[in-house]
Amino acid sequence: MYTIDVVEQILEPKQLILANKDSIITHLVYDSRKVIDPVGSIFFALQAVRDGHRFIGDAYAKGVRNFVISETSWVGNKYSEANFFVVDNALGAMQKLAAHVRSKFTKPVIGITGSNGKTVVKEWLTELLGVDKKIYQSPKSYNSQLGVALALWDLNDDYDYAIIEAGISLPNEMDSQQVMIRPDIGVLTNIGQAHASGFSSKEEKAREKVKLFSASKVVISPGKYNIRDFLNPDVANFTFGYEMDDVVQLSSVQEHKELGQTWVTISFQQQQGIVYIPFTDRASIENALICVTTLLYLGYPIADITARIAKLKPLEMRLQLRKGKNNCSIIDDSYSNDLASLQIALDFLNQQQQHEKRTLILSEMEGMGAKVKEKLTKVLRGQSLYRLILVGEDLGFLEGAVQTDVLLYASTADLIAGLDALGFADESILVKGSRVFHLEDVSQLLAAKTHETVLEINLHAIEHNLKQYRSLLPPEVKLMAMVKAFSYGSGSFEVANLLQFNKVDYLTVAFADEGVELRQNGIELPIMVLSPDEQAFEAVVANRLEPEIYSFRILRAFVDFLKTKKVSSYPIHIKIDTGMHRLGFLPTELPEVIAVLSVVSEVRVASVFSHLVASGDSNQDAFTRQQIELLNAGADLLQAELKYPFMRHIANTSAIIRWPAAYLDMVRLGIGLYGMDLDQATLDLETVGQLKTTITQIKELEAGETIGYDRKGVLHRKSRIATVKIGYADGYNRRFGNGVGEMMINGQLVPTIGNICMDMCMLDVTDVSVFEEEEVLVFPDLGKAASAIGTIPYELLVGISSRVKRVYFYE
Ligand SMILES: *Cc1c(COP(=O)(O)O)cnc(C)c1O
Repeated sequence: MYTIDVVEQILEPKQLILANKDSIITHLVYDSRKVIDPVGSIFFALQAVRDGHRFIGDAYAKGVRNFVISETSWVGNKYSEANFFVVDNALGAMQKLAAHVRSKFTKPVIGITGSNGKTVVKEWLTELLGVDKKIYQSPKSYNSQLGVALALWDLNDDYDYAIIEAGISLPNEMDSQQVMIRPDIGVLTNIGQAHASGFSSKEEKAREKVKLFSASKVVISPGKYNIRDFLNPDVANFTFGYEMDDVVQLSSVQEHKELGQTWVTISFQQQQGIVYIPFTDRASIENALICVTTLLYLGYPIADITARIAKLKPLEMRLQLRKGKNNCSIIDDSYSNDLASLQIALDFLNQQQQHEKRTLILSEMEGMGAKVKEKLTKVLRGQSLYRLILVGEDLGFLEGAVQTDVLLYASTADLIAGLDALGFADESILVKGSRVFHLEDVSQLLAAKTHETVLEINLHAIEHNLKQYRSLLPPEVKLMAMVKAFSYGSGSFEVANLLQFNKVDYLTVAFADEGVELRQNGIELPIMVLSPDEQAFEAVVANRLEPEIYSFRILRAFVDFLKTKKVSSYPIHIKIDTGMHRLGFLPTELPEVIAVLSVVSEVRVASVFSHLVASGDSNQDAFTRQQIELLNAGADLLQAELKYPFMRHIANTSAIIRWPAAYLDMVRLGIGLYGMDLDQATLDLETVGQLKTTITQIKELEAGETIGYDRKGVLHRKSRIATVKIGYADGYNRRFGNGVGEMMINGQLVPTIGNICMDMCMLDVTDVSVFEEEEVLVFPDLGKAASAIGTIPYELLVGISSRVKRVYFYE
């Protein structure tokens, strides 16, 4: 909690516009949609893809009264009750606050960085040390310039250790991370590829990373990286490895795949022992050894460490949304529990308005002191929950403290015993718990059974990709997101909800019934329908859907329909055919379109648009330019006659990359949103969909045997064949048979063998080490898969059948 005086001392603002000097700050906010406790919040107007100053009004309307800004022109005299701290850089100001919070913490801070594995190591260290210590950890992968500042905010002396993760994406970012975190103990997980993220060499990258440790006592690192020369002389380098000079010596690494373990003999000072690491993949072994070394540094004996390491489990670090029994939606986030990640999960619960009733199942938090309890109460008071189910006696203080009905269970076992009696139906259930409570067992019981082939959809990646494209657009250009065809196979209202939350301007569906489904699920954005037909007009109007009008027949029919309904000025979108020759008025027909439109009052043109046929193809640039000109000429013609303004738009994904001249009033973003970078642009897109299946059976067969229907898969050697649960009925095209398709198991590529069956197919796994029930990635490279069978990624994505369950992640 900070008073205005203290905040002023810390931020040293250029100017302070003071309305209420008695404000007390308890929450940092940078997104006006995520205000939980307005009175205690301070809003930072960050200069990101969208200028945070634009959202001051929104935050103020929600009751926020403290702001950190860099542009006073936004303030005027509209916000008379608010305090404004005027600084050069709002993010820098937030970082100053974070550094101050850190400076008040008197116990050791462990700072983790590295190219990979830092979140896993942070989570595992929290689990390993949490057995006997109170640990404060940064939530999720909050490791950016902003993430670290937010992550430090709740730190206080109730904890024994703080474990904070730091990442960098550009040279010179580590300095500010160091100032905020100032780790006493540094942990370097690895260094990674030199070419990644703007570094010219591996050495430059290593030098940048170790800046985090410039004032640390010690750095724990794999000996093989040899970072001694990069460290300040008074920072100890506590290494592990196979060399004589490594502090912790490793020997005899034995992999026991059948046990799922790797046995490593370690010696340190006078001690020797074996740790049984419960993993066999290289990354997990390396991460586990970093944890072992850290615990040795902290003085734990090897026997104790061995016992703790044996209990580690692979991390499901992602918040997951899936269908539950009795028409419930289950949001499972049971791997860690702290205030910040609870807020993220609650935001997600509210954003995905799956059901009116929202239930929270919550366990105790790690190291929950009085301050955390107070904040937790505030956070929960700000929620409109249907019921609150608490696990752990220590949460009893919430009874009566929040307006929701509270049910308290002493343990997860007690909750499970009483689960059926709770009668869950038609509700969204957020399951949020610390790992020790194993609330995933509860999620498992609430979830509907799934066919073991799933399409995992990463909603966070969609959000990320949206930001990438938005960063290319001038602020006045609107964005229409294409959610046709089940959002290119990625599900409908889950994606639409996310897009609505991220304030896109328009959505587009192919058919009216897709739009109706969005409306029924609470989507309020304007929705354009590409192929409305007469039978659907009733639904179109009843659901405020806006039809594309492409011909005189459809124009007259729609106007006649509106007349019978006595509706006027209904928004429509006039499609001009500038070269696709699919739907749309030809430019020569426009005078007649104008003649009709100028005498009817039933419709009002909301936009005039067209579709580019080859915006990604540089050989067709002359044609693309001509299409843009034709649209503009047509729209000019209409604008000259119609008395009101309307929008014009023509750009699809590739045109956003290649044709700024086509941005006009709005762009229509499709495939790029779903992570396919067909233009090989420099955008850093994230994969959205992962189609996964599992191995049902593995067989050893002799040379000469054949696999599958029609004996097409002939074995030329003794082979191992794996059967997996996906076939052409799931959308795995039959043309992928006989080695044309490749799947990936545990990082290894394997070809199909024999014909693809309806519900299954077979893989040749002779050359790799795989096991039954292992997970299989069906399209390790979607672009390559598409070209192998002579199609495009769009067709593979939308072809994934609806019987394949969609599971949503927000990571
Ligand atoms: C599908 C579609 C788009 C989006 O195209 P992408 O290449 O996926 O970006 C835009 N406009 C119309 C009319 C479409 O049908």
